Order: sequence, then structure tokens, then C-alpha cells
Amino acid sequence: MGAALGTVDVIGGGPGGLSAAALLKQLVPEADVVVSERNPPNATFGFGVVFSAATMRGLAAAAPEVHAALSDQAVTWDAVELRLHGRVHRCGGNTMSAIARRDLLAILERWAVERGVDLHHTSPRNELADDADLTVVASGARSELRDRAAEELGATWTDADARFIWCGTEAPFDGLTFPFVPTEWGVFGAHAYPIGRGLSTFIVECDVDTWRAAGLDVFDADQAPGPSDEASLRLLADLFAEHLDGHPLLGNNSRWGRFRTWRARRWATDRVAFIGDAVHTAHFSVGSGTKMAMEDAIALTQAIAEAESVPAALERFQEGRLASVERLQDLATTSLDWWEHFAVLHDHLPSWQFAVNFFTRSVTMANLQQRDPGFVEASRRAWAEGSGGHAVLDTPLDTPGGTVHRRVGRFDGTAAELPGARLEEGPTLRIVRDGSAAQRRRLAEQARFDGETVVLVEPTDPTVDPDDLAETLVLSGRADLVAFDPS
Ligand SMILES: Cc1cc2nc3c(=O)[nH]c(=O)nc-3n(C[C@H](O)[C@H](O)[C@H](O)COP(=O)(O)OP(=O)(O)OC[C@H]3O[C@@H](n4cnc5c(N)ncnc54)[C@H](O)[C@@H]3O)c2cc1C
Repeated sequence: MGAALGTVDVIGGGPGGLSAAALLKQLVPEADVVVSERNPPNATFGFGVVFSAATMRGLAAAAPEVHAALSDQAVTWDAVELRLHGRVHRCGGNTMSAIARRDLLAILERWAVERGVDLHHTSPRNELADDADLTVVASGARSELRDRAAEELGATWTDADARFIWCGTEAPFDGLTFPFVPTEWGVFGAHAYPIGRGLSTFIVECDVDTWRAAGLDVFDADQAPGPSDEASLRLLADLFAEHLDGHPLLGNNSRWGRFRTWRARRWATDRVAFIGDAVHTAHFSVGSGTKMAMEDAIALTQAIAEAESVPAALERFQEGRLASVERLQDLATTSLDWWEHFAVLHDHLPSWQFAVNFFTRSVTMANLQQRDPGFVEASRRAWAEGSGGHAVLDTPLDTPGGTVHRRVGRFDGTAAELPGARLEEGPTLRIVRDGSAAQRRRLAEQARFDGETVVLVEPTDPTVDPDDLAETLVLSGRADLVAFDPS
């Protein structure tokens, strides 16, 4: 069994293309597998990439030699650290590894070439060959071949409003670290992590108004790839000096951009598979783009091994991957949404609560309890200190409808029934119930910051512990009260 393969044409020598080429050659050693990569050897954008522990485990099963080389060179840590308002908040149980993108590509290239893949650098390709049994388009988020097939693939994109720039630094970081710096123009946030060889990735983000007010919009980002926006690197190095230990920021084709999320309904046409960033991207704050590209390669190879023809394999490949990639993209959208609004949270929440808000973008306090009980304990203690010693959900609250004795209750279609009061919407009380979870939470936060008391209505879900969710929403500053809607 398995689809017959004589020739495989891979376009793009990034993590997705190289992994697909190596795995397919390993599966069908007699096939001619050729990779065409536009860039010369050793030329790559950006600095490092992060892998979760789960990704590393998946890699260990599919490609043990790559896993071994990666484990050898990657830097691993457990805690994620937030720095703001002169305070540091750490949450453990987030095991991750990172490696310089250049080193990752060198490992993958070596793997592919040792397997017998024919790798051509400086070979841009924007046409499909007619005679390949299988073409793998892995030419990244800016793929021209994807653009041309966009209608057939149902491929669409959205651009984030926030601006980011991907830099490096020799400043030492122990693990994933997020410093936040308020300035006269607005708040800047950075994602920093070590990638080995004495280098760290340093990505800076801010909202568009802050970016413009700081005069960072003058560099022509449309000019040919190459030069970095040196003026921005210098200004950011000054702003983050305290966190950079006096080190400068390093550029590698570093320019401000907006994160573009690509989604596609189909990833294959006839004998052509589209993989990786060409058909799905996920905001870098969830560190999953490289993992998804490599997992696509693994799934494509499995499908080729199991199906009777290439078209049947492509159908199977796409069906097997779409749902899990969509789930990850949804998580990434929630995270991206957080990064679009972090300045308002930074300006309104105490640092400990900002940290809870950050770590509960997609999980609850019960999840955090498993990862790092000390973080949960410290957060509850910080709440108790500001609430006369009360546990979160048992903290009384004076509202326009009376004093509520417990922060969680039920929504009956018109009003929220909470122990001590029945609350209807009014001039200073907002009941937030419409839109997606992310939209509701954003609205609720904003209403709280505008001085309203907020009841957040959540659908009743038998898989969710209501007290856990309610505690998460209140402790993170997203709501004052939570009412579950049984309808
Ligand atoms: C700021 C930032 C930070 C990130 N951080 C992380 C992270 O921490 N963890 C993570 O997992 N992911 C991260 N990502 C995402 C990650 O970089 C991508 O998801 C990943 O590189 C996708 O791999 P790919 O092989 O699909 O595409 P790419 O890595 O983009 O590779 C595509 C390759 O195709 C080549 N190419 C393009 N056009 C042609 C052509 N016409 N002919 C031939 N070759 C061509 C390109 O030169 C490139 O080598 C980050 C992305 C950004 C923007």
C-alpha cells in the first residue's frame, strides 16, 4: 500500500519544505526529491523559534535524529517571566525550547541531504513543474504560488493592527521573558528568549498609535529585503536598556510589520500540497508556526504511506490536519487579541493581576494550578490583600442592585441572579453577554476600566467547572461578577 512516487518537487526550503523532503525521501528512497529554495545558503530572516515540550515529543517519534540534534543545540526552560511596573512575575510549568532559526535550518538541511534529497539554493520558483508526481508548496506566508491558487484553496488573510519588529540581542535571558515599558508615546512590550550561541530573540510589539507617535513609521518597509530599520533598533535599545543590560539590538532584515494570519479551507489541488505558513499562520506569541509546518510534513508523509494514490493521500492529509490547525489558530487569535490590547491592561491593572490576565488568555486557574501552584497561591494572596482577606468568589461587592455576597450566579435571560441581589443593566452596571468569548471579555474589561460594574454572562458548559471559570474571570480583572446562562 502507499501512493506511487517517482518525482517530488518541493518549493521552499524552510522548516516545512525541508521536513517534507526528508521524510518523503525516507519513505520512498528511490524517488527523486528536489527542493528549490529562493535564498542562498545561510540566509534567513528573524532570529530564533520556540518549541513546546509537546512539539519536541512529536518530533522524537517522527524524526529521532532531528530531535537529538535539536535537543543538543536548543536552550530549554520552564518558567515564563513578566516584567512590569518594576515587578517580576514568574509562572512555571511551561517547558519550552528555543533554537536559532539558522541552526534549525542547518539541522534540517543536513537531515534532508543525508537522506538523499537534492537541495538547490538560489532557485526561486514561481511555476509548477508539469511532470512531478507530487509538488509540495512550502514557500511561506508570502508564497506567490499560494496567491495564485488562493481562490481554489479558499485562502484568506487578516492583518493585525499592532506593529512588531523581530530583533536579536546578546543580552542574556534565562527563558521566555516579557518586559513591558511605558513611554511618553504609549506602552511597548517585548518577547525575549535565549536561542543559544550567546544570542536571544527580542521581538517588540506596540499598538499603531504608539508606533506612529514615537516616529517609528518612517522606514520604507517596502524596499527589497536586506537593510534593517536601524533607527528603530537604536530607539528600542534605549527604551529597553534596563532589560538589555546595555546591549544593543541586532537586526536581520528587521523591519516593523503587522502579523498576517492566513487561513485556507483547502490545502491541496490535484497533485499539489500546500503546507506550513503558505496556508496557515499563527501569531508568534503561541510559538507554533514552525511546529505546524513540520507537523504538516509528518502528516503528508503518513498520508502518502497509507493512501493508494497521490490525490487520495492529499485528501487524507488535509482532512487529518484541518481541525487541529484551526484549533491552534483560534488559540493564536485569542493570544494575538491580547497583544493588540495589552497597553490598556498595563495601564489599569496592578502588575500581579496583569500577569494573571496574561497567563489565562486561553486557560483557567485550575490549569495554572497544575503548572505552578505557587503562582496561583501568590495571585490569590494578592487578591486577598486588597479585599480584606476574602477568597476571590466570596468577596462581597456593593452594586447598584445591592450587596452581592458571592461573585458567581445565574443569568435568567433578563437579569443576573446573584447571592444577595438581582442585577439588571443600568447606567453604572453592565451585563456583557453578546459576541464571541474574546469579544465579551474585551468589552467587559473596557467597561470595568470605564468605571462600570460588570457582570459577564457565560454559556453553561458541562465540561467547564463554573467556579474555576468565574474565579479566573474575576481574578484576571475581566469581570466583577459572572453569571451562567443555562439556555
Ligand atoms: C516574528 C516571528 C516570530 C516567530 N516565532 C516563532 C516561534 O517562536 N516558534 C514557531 O514555531 N514559529 C515562529 N514563527 C513562525 C515561523 O517562522 C513560521 O511559521 C515557519 O517558519 C513556517 O515554516 P514554513 O516552512 O512554512 O515557511 P518559511 O519558514 O517562511 O519558509 C519558506 C521558505 O520558502 C522560500 N521561498 C519563498 N518563496 C519562494 C520561491 N518563490 N521559490 C523558492 N523558495 C521560496 C523562503 O525563502 C523560505 O526559505 C515566527 C514568525 C514570526 C514572524
